[in-house]
Amino acid sequence: MSDYLFPPLEVFLLAVAGEAAEFPVRRIFCVGRNYVAHAQEMGGEVDREAPWYFTKQAAHAVHSGAVLPYPPGTENYHHEMELAFAIGAPVFRASAAEAQAAIYAYGCALDMTRRDRQQDGKDNRRPWSLGKDVEGSAVFAGLTKAADFGAVGGQRIHLQVNGEARQGAVLADMVWSCGEIVEHLSRYYHLQAGDIVMTGTPAGVGAVLAGDVIEGGIDGLAPVLLTLTDAE
Ligand code: MN
Repeated sequence: MSDYLFPPLEVFLLAVAGEAAEFPVRRIFCVGRNYVAHAQEMGGEVDREAPWYFTKQAAHAVHSGAVLPYPPGTENYHHEMELAFAIGAPVFRASAAEAQAAIYAYGCALDMTRRDRQQDGKDNRRPWSLGKDVEGSAVFAGLTKAADFGAVGGQRIHLQVNGEARQGAVLADMVWSCGEIVEHLSRYYHLQAGDIVMTGTPAGVGAVLAGDVIEGGIDGLAPVLLTLTDAE
């Protein structure tokens, strides 16, 4: 028997294709503006000097297939379809080769966003937490090992809402590659097995409504699905 005062947070686990053991998620890092066309639609420019980040708590992760109420505190909840990658070994101040070797698996993910609260943050030069660190806003499909996925490049990334195409690009459109992200991020964090990085979204982000079914895919990976029901 433990002597916790209440049950501690359960570890969020992701299935890995072809692997009996599951991947326990530790931290979630998210890359901002990693596709030129999305940076432009947000009224900004790509930062070519270095990638930059925000985070989501692992407590806010949900599995693909989740059915969740439209979240409180927004009238402009947006979909962002993203490639996520999973770190499989400790890596700090990584070389290019070490960075690539630390990427254990890839998966489809949704970075759901209160766009109005994110805009408040931009307008007032405040953090984006209410916009980005939303309960249930990090939606993850099961992972595919990097060796099985192959090189990131021409795979199509896309998102549909109620079957209608909203986002589409190829992974080669990313400004910063997964390896480059690990190289950079590992200068600031001792990355560990269990850490996940969401690599940014292509153009075509937009609002979703209660009742919408959001489905995203990337060639070679399991799709990610989210259904929104009426607000609580
Ligand atoms: Mn995003």
